Amino acid sequence: MAGLALDFLWITAVLYAGHVAAYFGLGGVLAWWNARHPERRIQSGRRGEDRARAEIVKSLKALVPICAMMGAGLALQRHGITLWKPAEGWAAWLGMFALSVLLFDAWFYWAHRMMHWRPLYRFHRVHHRSLAPTVWSTYSDDPLDAVVHQGYLLIAPLVLPIPPSVLIVHRLYDHANGQIGHAGFEYFASPTARRPWPLVCTTFHDQHHELFNCNYGNFFSIWDRVMGTLHPGYDRKVGAMAAGAPPSPSRPGAARPAE
Ligand SMILES: [Zn+2]
Ligand SMILES: [Zn+2]
Repeated sequence: MAGLALDFLWITAVLYAGHVAAYFGLGGVLAWWNARHPERRIQSGRRGEDRARAEIVKSLKALVPICAMMGAGLALQRHGITLWKPAEGWAAWLGMFALSVLLFDAWFYWAHRMMHWRPLYRFHRVHHRSLAPTVWSTYSDDPLDAVVHQGYLLIAPLVLPIPPSVLIVHRLYDHANGQIGHAGFEYFASPTARRPWPLVCTTFHDQHHELFNCNYGNFFSIWDRVMGTLHPGYDRKVGAMAAGAPPSPSRPGAARPAE
C-alpha cells in the first residue's frame, strides 16, 4: 500500500511538472506566433489576452486534480489493480490509441453537455469567463469541472487494456489540441475541418466560447453533428476561410452565457 501511495505521488509530481512545461512551452510559442499574425485573430473586437494572468492562475490550480487523476490511474495500473493488463505490440498500441481518442471525444462531449446543465453550470462558468479564449484558457477551470472533463484519465487505465505510453501520448495530443483550439487565432481552416470530414479547426471551439450553446465536442465534430448542436454557420465559415476569407467573429444571433 505504501508502494502504491509512493508511486501515485511521484507519477503525479512528474506529470504536473510535464504539464506545466507543456503549458508554458507550447503556449509561449503560440502566443509569440499569434502576436506576429494579428490578421488571423478570430474575435477581432475582443482582446482575450487581457485575462491571461487570471487564466494562468486558474490553470495551474486545475492541473493539480487533472494530474492526480492520471497519476492515480497509472499507479493503480502499475500495481495491477485494473480489469486488464496493458495490451502489448505495435498493432495493439495503435488500436488502443485510436480507440482512446474516439472514446475520449465521446466522454468530453457528454461531460461538457452535462456541465452546461443549469444545476452544474456554476462549476463550468469559470471556463466561460473567457469569451475570447487564448492559449492560456485551456485549463482555466473550476477544479470540479476539470475532474468531470478529464475523469477519463483515471477511468481508462482501470477498465481498458491501455498501455501507459498510449495514455501519455493521448494526453499530449489532447493538450496540444486544447491549446491550439483555444488560441483565438485561426491557421487550420482547411477543407478537412468541415463537412464531410469529422476534424475541426480553432474556430470550432472559439465559437463555443463566443456563442456558448454550440460546438461541445473536443477532437471531432461528430457528436455535435449527430446531436444537432453544431453551429449552423460553422461549415460555411470554414469553407470561406479555406477559400481565403479572413477569420471573423460569428455574432450576431448569439445566446449569452447564463450568469
Ligand atoms: Zn462550455
Ligand atoms: Zn474552452
